[in-house]
Amino acid sequence: MTLPSHARTIVIGGGVIGCSIAYHLARQGRKDIVVLERSKLTSGTTWHAAGLVRRLRPSATLTKLINYSIDLYGELERETGQATGWTQTGSLTLATNADRLTNIKRQVSLGRAFGLEAEVVDANRAKELWPLIETDDVIGAVWSPADGRVNPSDVALALSKGARARGVQIFEDTAVTELQKKAGRISGVEVGDHVIAADEVVIACGLWSREVAAMAGAHMPLYACEHFYILTKPLAEVQALGKGAHLPTLNDQDAFLYARDDVEGLLVGSFEPHAKGLPLDRLPKDFSFDLLDEDWDHFMPMMENALRRIPALERAEVRMLLNGPESFTLDSQFMLGESPEVPGLFLMGGMNSTGIALAGGAGKAMAEWIIAGEPTMELNEADIRRFSPEMNVLAALEARIPEVLGRHYDNPYPGRVMDSARGQRRSPIHAGLVAAGAQFEARGGWERAVHFGGEAAHFPLSFCAPAWRGQVGAEVAACRSGAAILDQSALGKIMVQGPDACALLNHLCAAQMDVPEGRIAYTQILNARGGIESDLTVQRHGSETYLLIAGAGEVVRVLKRMRETRGDFRVEFTDVTSGYAILGLAGAKARSVLQATSNTPVPDLKRFQFAPIEIGLARGWAGRLSFTGEEGYELYIPADMAMAAYEALLTAGASHAGLYASGSLRIESGFRAFGHELTPGTTPHEAGLDAFCAVGTGFVGEAALQDHTPARRIVSLLFDDPGAIPIHDEPVYFNGQVVGQVTSAAWSYRFGCSVALAMISGPPRIFCEKSFTADGTWGVEVEIACARYTARATLKPAKEAFQ
Ligand SMILES: Cc1cc2nc3c(=O)[nH]c(=O)nc-3n(C[C@H](O)[C@H](O)[C@H](O)COP(=O)(O)OP(=O)(O)OC[C@H]3O[C@@H](n4cnc5c(N)ncnc54)[C@H](O)[C@@H]3O)c2cc1C
Repeated sequence: MTLPSHARTIVIGGGVIGCSIAYHLARQGRKDIVVLERSKLTSGTTWHAAGLVRRLRPSATLTKLINYSIDLYGELERETGQATGWTQTGSLTLATNADRLTNIKRQVSLGRAFGLEAEVVDANRAKELWPLIETDDVIGAVWSPADGRVNPSDVALALSKGARARGVQIFEDTAVTELQKKAGRISGVEVGDHVIAADEVVIACGLWSREVAAMAGAHMPLYACEHFYILTKPLAEVQALGKGAHLPTLNDQDAFLYARDDVEGLLVGSFEPHAKGLPLDRLPKDFSFDLLDEDWDHFMPMMENALRRIPALERAEVRMLLNGPESFTLDSQFMLGESPEVPGLFLMGGMNSTGIALAGGAGKAMAEWIIAGEPTMELNEADIRRFSPEMNVLAALEARIPEVLGRHYDNPYPGRVMDSARGQRRSPIHAGLVAAGAQFEARGGWERAVHFGGEAAHFPLSFCAPAWRGQVGAEVAACRSGAAILDQSALGKIMVQGPDACALLNHLCAAQMDVPEGRIAYTQILNARGGIESDLTVQRHGSETYLLIAGAGEVVRVLKRMRETRGDFRVEFTDVTSGYAILGLAGAKARSVLQATSNTPVPDLKRFQFAPIEIGLARGWAGRLSFTGEEGYELYIPADMAMAAYEALLTAGASHAGLYASGSLRIESGFRAFGHELTPGTTPHEAGLDAFCAVGTGFVGEAALQDHTPARRIVSLLFDDPGAIPIHDEPVYFNGQVVGQVTSAAWSYRFGCSVALAMISGPPRIFCEKSFTADGTWGVEVEIACARYTARATLKPAKEAFQ
């Protein structure tokens, strides 16, 4: 076979991910596909994976993707003649402390939202399921019968066989040495002197992906770590199970371990707390079916944990300590999608040690995205557009990624923070917030103040009432009756200028953008299916000048949409996020405090208006809108004057509030947030935001909204029992049936119990609140850690419906 000079789609990388993408592209009818593999298929990371496949995942998307993988891995042998080794062994997850038990019970409840059944069992039953374990310290466990394992190389080979049978050309020993672009779009690849022109290129190069993406100037923030498991020789206790019998996968997260039987012996792997990063230049250029050096000093603490849990290991002869490289991401979610910088270049990687389990479903999702030009299912949490180029800084990855691996088994408590790579992006008033005792969380590289009680009010973390409840209560009170500064400087800011600025924005945004100067419009950007791609406020500064304010994590996404939509519109747009601070000033005293900073009168503003303002020595502009639903302003100040404005506000009597306070008020006010209530799979009608759509202006997604009767809606929930602490994603039941999931939750200081927003499906009469009950609310139940709690639901904001 000779290398072609043109292909419709080139997939770079012949690991399980590249093979799955090529297979699914071909299966969906795409012709003229070429896979280029530097060495041999599976020779990177795929060949030495442990092959564990767990269905129970923290989100609907991941669970759906893995469920599809499992169905596919069961069928591939029939189609290709190549077995994948899929064996349904089930998995057993142990808890040795109360918080772990709560967490694994939370996962069971979450699974029920997606129809997955798992059972909470006691230590005796755990011992029956895994007879080799010591259970003295086990206080409970979860048995998930639907989990299993595969042979990773065989999965990749079956996929490649299926792909070849559908016409995909696979070239081994063919390294891509450069990527080519024409007018900014990907146009082909170089293999030494040979050029293959292509319409689309897909990078699936495992831990090498970041460097390959950089060949085209694209960012792909992932980084490799060393990843370990031991293999033992056959062990009498395992042999005693009988031929063909298997143990379930064992997860002992408190000891950082997982284990399974392997060729009559045991495989015991770890996500050790002090993981080892792996700079790429430590791998030889011809790394192929290779492993890294054993490191017993590093693994020994894990070995000791394993010996305590599985005493039979004392008698086992260790065959090898396998050390293989695997790549991880900043938020421990994989990434896929079209490069925001380079149209036609698709990227998938950073599989965080779940690449085998995800390959089937995620490969299909990627293939569909390539063909359709946009995601065909809810992929928001994995979408590459959540990463900005700043997050691709090597030093940040080197510092953070080992911690990501090391905290893989952490309990996901609210308020959990990473300790590494801190302080990358700081607000212009950061120093003031530090002095005021702020407790920060790093989000998207930004240091965000979550409350002002410092560490003393933050720890210990808990799934129950948090340590910061009193502190945040005081901040909420200030946001309502005082004047509290809420630093929102991390919000994205995009300046849009040009004769066609209004026309472009009216095409892009669902709301009417032809508003008078000095007005702010709230709008969503939709995709062609009518799903919400971003939500933002838009300020009109001049006939040809607008400023877009988007969520901190939405800038890359909005800019990509704008580039795609620009066409012949005469418009320039610039990311000016770093140029301005945004300070919310919330509360009944906001106006008087603002006035006390300056002798120039505070402008009289109606809601959604803005005007210039002086704040102490600084000048900027004030908008009359709030993140909290309380009285107040948003103050926009050039970064260099932000401290001057902040100091003047403090002198005039303002106090501080953090994100936890604004989150609680937001949810009480029923305000929707992107990534929670608003996602690319949610329409404005489902989100209750159809009033913000200017039907008739021809905006992207408008056609899809015509005759759209939503079968699901966002509702507000108020819990009856103050002991109910929902966090996110908990299943909601109506008449005993799962009807949806919680999308945001917080403690309500107004009501003295938890308040939440949830997306629920239901018969239209549920949504027609007046006809349902006299007060427009109805009863539901929410399952939290396997316990059901009653709550009242309403289409209105909680603070209006439940007064
Ligand atoms: C110890 C260990 C245990 C694991 N256990 C599990 C598990 O139990 N379950 C699970 O789901 N996952 C597990 N994983 C993770 C899983 O192995 C990976 O997520 C998965 O194999 C990644 O597949 P990939 O195709 O992205 O990468 P790879 O398999 O590394 O494939 C990438 C390919 O790209 C090729 N390539 C690179 N650069 C170029 C170039 N310039 N031109 C052409 N080709 C190029 C490479 O040669 C390589 O073959 C484990 C990983 C490790 C290390």
